Amino acid sequence: MLVDYRVRQREYLLAIGRALSAELSLHDVLRIILQATVDFISGRAGIVVLADPTDRTFHVATGYGFPRSVYTQFEGLLRRLPYDDEAEREIIQEIGVGVKRIAQSTNLGLTQVLPLPLLSGESLIGLIYVFQVGRYQFNPDAISLLQSFADQAAIAVKNARLYERLIAERNRLGAILEQSADGVMILDSHLRITVFNRALSVMTGWDAAATIGLAHDDVIRWKSLKTEMDLRVALANGWPLPNAAHLTVEGELRRRDEKVISLSITYAPMLDSRGRMSDIIANVRNLTRYREEQELQKTFVSVISHELKTPVSIIKGYAGTLKRYDANWPPEIQQEYLEVIEDEADRLTDLIDNLLEASRLQAGTFKLEMSELLLPGLVAAATRKFTTQTDKHQFQVRFPETFPLIKGDERRLTQVLNNLFSNAIKYSPEGGLIEIHGEVNDRYVTLSVRDSGIGIPEHQQHRIFQKFSRLDNALSRKTEGTGLGLFLSKAIIEAHGGQIWFENNANSPGTTFTFCLPMA
Ligand code: ADP
Repeated sequence: MLVDYRVRQREYLLAIGRALSAELSLHDVLRIILQATVDFISGRAGIVVLADPTDRTFHVATGYGFPRSVYTQFEGLLRRLPYDDEAEREIIQEIGVGVKRIAQSTNLGLTQVLPLPLLSGESLIGLIYVFQVGRYQFNPDAISLLQSFADQAAIAVKNARLYERLIAERNRLGAILEQSADGVMILDSHLRITVFNRALSVMTGWDAAATIGLAHDDVIRWKSLKTEMDLRVALANGWPLPNAAHLTVEGELRRRDEKVISLSITYAPMLDSRGRMSDIIANVRNLTRYREEQELQKTFVSVISHELKTPVSIIKGYAGTLKRYDANWPPEIQQEYLEVIEDEADRLTDLIDNLLEASRLQAGTFKLEMSELLLPGLVAAATRKFTTQTDKHQFQVRFPETFPLIKGDERRLTQVLNNLFSNAIKYSPEGGLIEIHGEVNDRYVTLSVRDSGIGIPEHQQHRIFQKFSRLDNALSRKTEGTGLGLFLSKAIIEAHGGQIWFENNANSPGTTFTFCLPMA
């Protein structure tokens, strides 16, 4: 009898050991342990109840021997008794009473219940309940064996939770790498790519999945280097030295589509416990925008110094001429020179205004001062001013008879009109008609300015609204301009909730700029 008992005990323990090491799901492991526990004492049914650390309630993890409907009753009972550290004992007792009542209400003839706690260190993480028919004498030996089954179950739960945490942590790290705004790449010790994040994929034009397993040099193809060496040369020169710093390589890189971008890559070696390099983590930064900004700064300085110098030297020249006390200038000449000085001073003011606007935009302190406006009135005032400045161009203004009020910033919208009109004049050097046409649409009004000038070549069209962009043509070099006008006009119109665009005229030379604004 005793031998028989021992043999059975061994068989069960072996079965549980096998289940634990077989990489089964937690649910399957618990079911095997529960079945072994119930069978071992010839019980009829059992359940495993686990405390869920996230919602602090007990749930039935698995059951054995009950019809399905009984589980809903168990779940209902457990929901009513949430976990509470202060009253652990009372709650466990209540759960025990409730579980027994539910078991007895089935027609399985269950009379007895044996609770086995699942402990992780000091804390209770769940319970196994085994149900019996009739009056069964639990001998202490059997109970201690059953408790050892329960301990195995507790270990399985603990491992499963650790594993879950590990996976969650790994996914979290993976997500961080993936979401990082910087490019991130991980290489193995043979310089093969094992991780390639989305930012890097966007930067380099390589599909991330396609890079995995490729050699570093197949993807990172430098056109030219700004630093002394690339990764391969550095490795050949003994990088990384013990406790040596990161390696930074900077230069022009060929993307997958052969376009060239400026990049900086910082390689950090990861060493194993024996100090050998196991992986390399590379942080990749796109410097193209930074370089463009640098270029822009340079353009800014040259444009501004040129644009400021011209009116200042004209003003100085004319003022100096007028000032000469030996000359006795006739009044018409004096008048003409003073007008030139006034015009140039106006130009300086416009230029400075534009610069201030641009820096307000950049600083985010650009605010509109709104009032109700009549666009035809603003157009009339602006054309009046320009008509006096040219005798080669004719302005033709057309508005429908009734034109609605719009809400807008008068000074800023005047600035937009001045810009479009002065461009229409500047970029039609032969002169001609400048047609200004107002229209009323659904909820928008539009205004178009059509010239018969040099037009805008297709390949340069995308640059028109960029800061400091002046098209590369003979006329741009001859005329004054900062390349700020259209950049600001676009910002102003968009701040009003409108849009601005342009088209080269279909069957005749020249360009038409149009903007729309919402009605008041
Ligand atoms: P600016 O006139 O001060 O150079 P803008 O921002 O107003 O700056 O215009 C940017 C560039 O767009 C100009 O340098 C010019 O090359 C081009 N452009 C603007 N308006 C016209 C136009 N009506 N016709 C042809 N080219 C134009």
